[in-house]
Amino acid sequence: MSLLELDGVSVRYGDRRALDGVRLAVAEGEIVCVLGPSGSGKSTLLRAVAGLTPVAGGAVRLAGRDLRGVPAHRRGLGLMFQDHQLFPQRDVAGNIAFGLRMRREPGERVAARVGELLALVGLPGAERRAVATLSGGEQQRVALARALAPDPRLLMLDEPLGQLDRDLRERLVVELRQLFGRLGSTVLAVTHDQGEAFALADRVVVMRAGRVVQVGAPVEVWRRPANAFVARFLGFRNVVTATVGGGEARTPWGPVPAGSTADVGPGERAVLVRPSGVRLSAVGDGPSGAALTGTVAARTFRGDHVLVLVQPAGGGPELEASCALREAPEVGATVGVSLDPDEVVVLAGEPTDDQRLDQLP
Ligand code: ADP
Repeated sequence: MSLLELDGVSVRYGDRRALDGVRLAVAEGEIVCVLGPSGSGKSTLLRAVAGLTPVAGGAVRLAGRDLRGVPAHRRGLGLMFQDHQLFPQRDVAGNIAFGLRMRREPGERVAARVGELLALVGLPGAERRAVATLSGGEQQRVALARALAPDPRLLMLDEPLGQLDRDLRERLVVELRQLFGRLGSTVLAVTHDQGEAFALADRVVVMRAGRVVQVGAPVEVWRRPANAFVARFLGFRNVVTATVGGGEARTPWGPVPAGSTADVGPGERAVLVRPSGVRLSAVGDGPSGAALTGTVAARTFRGDHVLVLVQPAGGGPELEASCALREAPEVGATVGVSLDPDEVVVLAGEPTDDQRLDQLP
């Protein structure tokens, strides 16, 4: 059974619908990450579950119980929210123990639990440290320990690693996933960072303008974005409108075989070409077999690969190609381009979605 269920939940701020009929289920022990651009309703969703924002329609249920009318502090939730900062005047132990003291737990039990939690989040013995002396990453760990302290049924995290620098975020996200797995925690987290969501979650939920646009395991969402919006949001650049039919997608870059369109159907469609499916070859060393040529406009080093932007000679949008370090051509080079049909995905939804996307900030 699902631990948490949102059944058609809507939230309004005046005339504005911040959440619009959201349906979502989180199973016991599952880590679900809500992902979406700023303003898509992620925080509102968490606040509605937490009981911090009134729900205009639909129901929120925890373990089958309707939470309507249940105040926030009686919902059995652990919250780690951006606007719930640590108390600067209390030491680390005082911060972590806050919820336990509110429940009037005996002092020795509280002290033992604080010690256990500090060990769990990798800060053993930090009880008496002042909050102001902690680094950003350490503060985040203390906030997590505080949220875990009352042993909540559901842990809710709002941009848990948002304030930290990239390197630390990447390390902490792995630690968090291991920790939640060990504890068997059920987690609902929101983030605008897809890397973080994909690394942390068992399932991701992509939101746009108060609605859920896709739910799936990270690999499913990555392989098959539900529409042009999701594809663009995940950082894919090669998303264009194409005419699809007869096993082929006629793109601005020329025709590409597009096998599995069965679930999408023929017509004007948004098509994604993954950068790993854009193959570049040197021009001038004999026949390249490529239908398209272009000029390398930019290169971005990405650690284990290079993203190369190619301006096609015949016009059309720039194509992004993912190349091995050694094979990445120089800026200004003329290259042949061929597209791997296995990396071409015909997307559902209106292709015009794509144009509206270009107008997003
Ligand atoms: P996200 O967390 O995805 O950035 P939010 O849930 O914060 O999105 O906001 C969703 C929408 O609701 C946005 O359009 C935002 O401007 C609006 N909104 C959020 N909080 C309030 C509020 N307290 N009053 C009015 N509008 C709000």
